[in-house]
Amino acid sequence: MGVDRHEVFPTEDARIFPLFETEGVLSAIWSPDDGRANPVAMTMSMATRVRKRGVRIGEGSRVTDFIVKNRHVQGVMTAQSPIMPEVVVLAAGMWSRWFAVKIGVSEPLQAAEH
Ligand SMILES: Cc1cc2nc3c(=O)[nH]c(=O)nc-3n(C[C@H](O)[C@H](O)[C@H](O)COP(=O)(O)OP(=O)(O)OC[C@H]3O[C@@H](n4cnc5c(N)ncnc54)[C@H](O)[C@@H]3O)c2cc1C
Repeated sequence: MGVDRHEVFPTEDARIFPLFETEGVLSAIWSPDDGRANPVAMTMSMATRVRKRGVRIGEGSRVTDFIVKNRHVQGVMTAQSPIMPEVVVLAAGMWSRWFAVKIGVSEPLQAAEH
């Protein structure tokens, strides 16, 4: 998928990451383009930016169903009231599959232990 990555164990790992504990490690992959982000700070930063562009963010509204008309999703039902936005984006993560099934779409997402 075009991700730059290198198998580095056991020769290079200590140079790249001196704290690396090699005991029991069979293999190590280094992705030089990977980074670290604080997910809370990043989310708040994105929320601030989109709010400035007129987006309204509603929290604490559980979506219970889609509102479908003529085979098109036109809105969502929430526990409080219906919401009829210009565009509906299904971004419920692992729970998307359950919603997608309701409108006949296969969303092959599942939690996998690893
Ligand atoms: C323990 C753990 C560690 C991870 N560590 C990393 C990491 O280090 N780096 C990395 O890149 N990725 C990591 N991931 C993966 C990463 O968290 C996910 O890939 C990412 O969060 C998916 O984003 P998303 O927006 O698609 O879904 P989510 O972040 O799951 O967001 C879905 C949202 O939909 C909401 N939702 C669900 N159902 C409803 C409903 N009916 N009504 C309203 N809202 C609803 C949920 O509350 C949630 O807020 C980790 C995941 C886990 C579980």
